[in-house]
Amino acid sequence: PIPESAEGRRIYEEDRAHVFHSWSAQNALDPLVITRTEGSRVWDADGKGYLDFSSQLVFTNLGHQHPRVVEAIRDQAAALCTIAPAHANGARSEAARLVAERLPDGFDKVFFTNGGAEAVENAIRMARLYTGRYKVLSFFRGYHGATQQAINVTGDHRRWPNDYGASGVVHVHGPFLYRTQFHATTEDEERDRALEHLESTIRFEDPDAFAAIIVETIPGTAGVMPPPPGYLQGVREICDRYGIVMILDEVMVGFGRTGAWFALDNYGVVPDLVTFAKGVNSGYVPLGGVGISRPIAEFFGDRPYPGGLTYSGHPLACAAAVATIKAMVDERAVEHAARLGEEILAPGLARIAARHPSVGEVRGLGAFFALDLVKNPVTREELSPYGSSNAAIGAVLAACRDDGLLVFNNYHRIHLAPPLNTTEEEVREALAILDRALEVADSYVET
Ligand code: PLP
Repeated sequence: PIPESAEGRRIYEEDRAHVFHSWSAQNALDPLVITRTEGSRVWDADGKGYLDFSSQLVFTNLGHQHPRVVEAIRDQAAALCTIAPAHANGARSEAARLVAERLPDGFDKVFFTNGGAEAVENAIRMARLYTGRYKVLSFFRGYHGATQQAINVTGDHRRWPNDYGASGVVHVHGPFLYRTQFHATTEDEERDRALEHLESTIRFEDPDAFAAIIVETIPGTAGVMPPPPGYLQGVREICDRYGIVMILDEVMVGFGRTGAWFALDNYGVVPDLVTFAKGVNSGYVPLGGVGISRPIAEFFGDRPYPGGLTYSGHPLACAAAVATIKAMVDERAVEHAARLGEEILAPGLARIAARHPSVGEVRGLGAFFALDLVKNPVTREELSPYGSSNAAIGAVLAACRDDGLLVFNNYHRIHLAPPLNTTEEEVREALAILDRALEVADSYVET
């Protein structure tokens, strides 16, 4: 929308003239101009406020403009803005320790990147070098980033135009009972059949060729699908059986998002590599990384690691990570997110689902939920087709926005992923807006 204020119009027009946007046909864009942010709210150029339940791209885990994180960036900028990765510096050392301390036992080392895709690139590189193998197995319902290797392990339709078929990537279906590929009727059946499918794919694709299995601990962009109990342990066992490195992608679900420091804590599973980004510093300065278990770290003890980045462990990004993690501890943000999920979001969304035929299923935990919107609750046909949006989902999103709520959207789904420190009142306010907006979705339901 074109803002009314002169300053807002200038920002909008310069954006349209000069900014080339991600994932979009450039002529169809109509960006919202944001000029102020605080906590769980943002304001547009004309002063209209919105509850930000997208956390942007699910990264402002401590909300916008957290004073301690802003101050840490300011202090680090005044003291030491930048230094090359080969030198040691205080912000980077401390950030690495704070991240490693929150990973499972045996994860002592962290390789820093500028974001999630680079973390995935480097985790796969480490796995290939460590195993001396090249194939990588990943999941159709998964997203791992937009660099060449990361988009090729990605499962969603954004891979298609980027797929040059040369990467040794094999995709499988993960467990997802609501839209089962395995004709399952219970979570146990779904888990067992998904594991059988995974193992037989590996056996038919050459078990000795696989360097890594990469999986989002809880697939995020693809629809917030917590795996059935025992599934990730099953993946761990398959990795052990065939000598494959297990990479858990925690880029979206790490740092408190699911009411645990890492989503893997919910399942008691220990991978070999963990990728992270986003919430590590609430996205205030670009940062990602790979948590490395001891055997893989030791593998590179005496042989050089053939990878690096000019800005690996940038002091401003690392200072923001140190401040974010310490503020999360002091404010008990992770515990708060768990409580918001259990006490407000899960029951509130269940009540909403019961009232609206357009809500096929609600999934999630902590500050991480998705509503699977359907055209037909019996056939479960999606409100918009796979890989696209349509007038129906567009109208629901517009209703949310007009009423002052920003949500995360992918295809036919609405995701609620507010900052971990969002108040109960703010969650109730957002649920009331969503409740009204879903009447628009209901009007598209075929009965
Ligand atoms: N992995 C997961 C699970 C993600 O959700 C994302 C981004 O949404 C990425 C990787 C890519 O991260 P980035 O966009 O920082 O490269």
